[in-house]
Amino acid sequence: MAYDDSNIFAKILRGEIPCDKVYEDEYALAFRDINPQTPTHVLVIPKGAYVSFDDFSEQASGEEIVGFVRAAGKVARDLGLVAPGYRALANHGADAHQEVPHFHLHLFGGKDLGRMIK
Ligand code: IMP
Repeated sequence: MAYDDSNIFAKILRGEIPCDKVYEDEYALAFRDINPQTPTHVLVIPKGAYVSFDDFSEQASGEEIVGFVRAAGKVARDLGLVAPGYRALANHGADAHQEVPHFHLHLFGGKDLGRMIK
């Protein structure tokens, strides 16, 4: 699937739309979800143009992948999510109802999230 740079996260990365930023480095930007599902709900996105986790895993360089994963872990630590626990999730494609076609990792926390896998 080709990357469409008119998606909302591409606009956020270009600074055309504001976001509630919690972290940024050369590989990733993290900001609060506009429609939070949990007390803490942050999205971590890579700086590069990748549609989804699948695309990112195949097309991104090792440096970008390591940089992104380290940034996401730092965000979880900095937000105090590690001790109580948190959930990291990425939606890909139609069956997962991916809404924004720029790869993003959701970080959910701040309450008991229940079991996702029964
Ligand atoms: P998806 O279903 O995994 O693609 O999730 C997309 C997420 O992006 C949803 O949780 C939306 O609430 C969130 N979202 C959409 N637009 C914005 C925005 O402008 N700022 C922050 N979050 C957004």
